[in-house]
Amino acid sequence: MNKDISTPIRTKAILEKYKFSFKKSLGQNFLIDSNILRKIVDQAELGEDSAAIEIGPGIGALTEQLARKAEKVVAFEIDQRLLPILKDTLSPYTNVKVVHSDVLKADVNQVIKEEFKEGQDIMVVANLPYYVTTPILMKLLTENLPVRGIVVMIQKEVADRIAASPGTKDYGSLSLAVQYYAEAKNALIVPKTVFMPKPNVDSAVLHLTMRKEAPVEVENEDFFFEVIRASFTQRRKTLWNNLINNLFSKEKKDQVQQALEKAGIEGQRRGETLSMEEFARLSNELILYK
Ligand code: SAM
Repeated sequence: MNKDISTPIRTKAILEKYKFSFKKSLGQNFLIDSNILRKIVDQAELGEDSAAIEIGPGIGALTEQLARKAEKVVAFEIDQRLLPILKDTLSPYTNVKVVHSDVLKADVNQVIKEEFKEGQDIMVVANLPYYVTTPILMKLLTENLPVRGIVVMIQKEVADRIAASPGTKDYGSLSLAVQYYAEAKNALIVPKTVFMPKPNVDSAVLHLTMRKEAPVEVENEDFFFEVIRASFTQRRKTLWNNLINNLFSKEKKDQVQQALEKAGIEGQRRGETLSMEEFARLSNELILYK
């Protein structure tokens, strides 16, 4: 087997050979710990026939570990300077394709159609650039991609918010937005020391399993998420206050009250106490008055 790209010595040698300088604006913190990389890949439970999509391969540390497990890996990299480096570091792996693109602008569905077999088991596995974690996750979740799940290293604080349960301080619109599409769990906490350069924040590996069906019945998804966002606008205010201040005008007070009663939800509660099921019930009643 080839020597790991991710050892600190090899990483330094690669960076020096290509005179590569990190771009903070692209969230470039490379992993330099093979153990952590293997743990991330284990989370994805890839079989010999599986495929993997990576976002931001950097110099290929995670890509390499994925290539050893999966049948095929497609990696999206925005930074042109990394392309010749990846060509070099990943040359032993014939099952990797690097796509030079901003993943937020890429047609991922089309790439999947072109690069993978029909019906193939596909996982997204990445050490995400922290400056765009949420937009990337929301893109992956909402574009109806035929993937089994997503395993990503992200800022610990964001992972905590995503996997949070009702009634906790971390629970909010991001928890609901993600958990509507996937089952979320925090798989691993990762120290700053495994990155080069070291980030300022702690990291965690988030494990998302895509849902086959929506967990609640909502009449209008956009409105459901509008109700959720409005309910968390001022966390310390009651549900009632947030709905009246951020979604409905004062003239509709009676209707909002009626909708709350029909949904069986006390307006004096705070948004953070409502389960997804309750938000679904509430939005299905409120939509009558929008
Ligand atoms: N996977 C490598 C590792 O673990 O060592 C690098 C991870 S580093 C945190 C994030 C990578 O994402 C960088 O290579 C960066 O250039 C790339 N990147 C940043 N924004 C991107 C975007 N919008 N689309 C694709 N790649 C992006």
